[in-house]
Amino acid sequence: MKRCCVFGAGGFIGWHLAKRLKEEGNFVAGIDLKFSEFDKFVGDHFQIADLRDRDTIADVMGGEYDEVFQLAADMGGAGFIFTGVHDSEIITGNALININTALNAHKVGRVFYSSSACVYGPHLNFKEDFKEENAYPAFPDSQYGWEKLFSERVYLSLKKAVVRIARFHNIFGTEGAWKGGREKSPAAICRKVAQAKDSIEIWGDGNQVRTYCYIDDCVDGILAVMRSEHTGPFNIGSEETVSITELAEMVCQIAGKKLSFKYVPGPKGVTRRTSNNDKVKAVIGWEPKVPLIVGMGKTYRWIEHMVNLDSGMIQENMK
Ligand code: NAD
Repeated sequence: MKRCCVFGAGGFIGWHLAKRLKEEGNFVAGIDLKFSEFDKFVGDHFQIADLRDRDTIADVMGGEYDEVFQLAADMGGAGFIFTGVHDSEIITGNALININTALNAHKVGRVFYSSSACVYGPHLNFKEDFKEENAYPAFPDSQYGWEKLFSERVYLSLKKAVVRIARFHNIFGTEGAWKGGREKSPAAICRKVAQAKDSIEIWGDGNQVRTYCYIDDCVDGILAVMRSEHTGPFNIGSEETVSITELAEMVCQIAGKKLSFKYVPGPKGVTRRTSNNDKVKAVIGWEPKVPLIVGMGKTYRWIEHMVNLDSGMIQENMK
């Protein structure tokens, strides 16, 4: 049994990770500004706290933890990180959390840091381009991405701490943001399809290419990287490419709906991005197992349920 602490345990990936760590039989603490909106924290102790605060982190990380998973960040999908509206909160707040964590990292067994595919520049296109070393020369296209890359360097500079770093590529699944502005494209498309009668809106021309990694695979990847003897950074993502239009068609097929698509201006993100798992597969032995259609099926059913709850069509106790 390990003593584990998950920063950002009220968020999407942190909530799922805490659940898995508990299922493994560990002692699990969670810290966040808020509880998960969707389900109870599955762990031993939950603390509402602001991890931008230096004294708070110093106190938490004095808790004799074997493993601290740093997943807390002010973040969201393209509608949150590419509009410029939230830039100063994102870059300052997230940097504070990571600097505070790094300053205390030597007090715990090891620290996992969740970086992002947003460290890669928009000039990169195909799978070969997304090898980990190609984040340099650096040219992220958002303040969120610059902070992620800067914080990687903060962690890599530590001499007296054991750190593990992964760059997540579009993680999706149940119990994640599905409305309100922070949702990412898979959740937004599921919500739009669940609510639609005739048509849905798609930001951009629908030709943007992405890969999406199901949450269960991501949690496997986090644990594989954390418990390996390699610092990283490692890509944690899927290599199964899909355009936004193809993703929307897949969701319509899952939902059994025939809808038309209206292409509208919006923050559409980079033109093409895929994970490259060559290094993580060779060094750690991790690769995703859940096909996109299977993950999207589970995600759509959950979001459809949330839409029905939200509209009052069904009651909470039927959950
Ligand atoms: P999320 O927004 O669901 O979870 C992040 C959590 O951090 C939230 O619950 C939030 O309240 C908490 N948080 C923010 N500021 C805080 C603070 N000052 N103090 C305490 N808690 C704070 O996001 P997620 O999708 O679960 O992402 C987890 C991590 O993975 C983040 O670091 C994110 O940048 C990274 N990441 C996620 C993806 C993805 O596709 N979901 C992709 C790349 C990187």
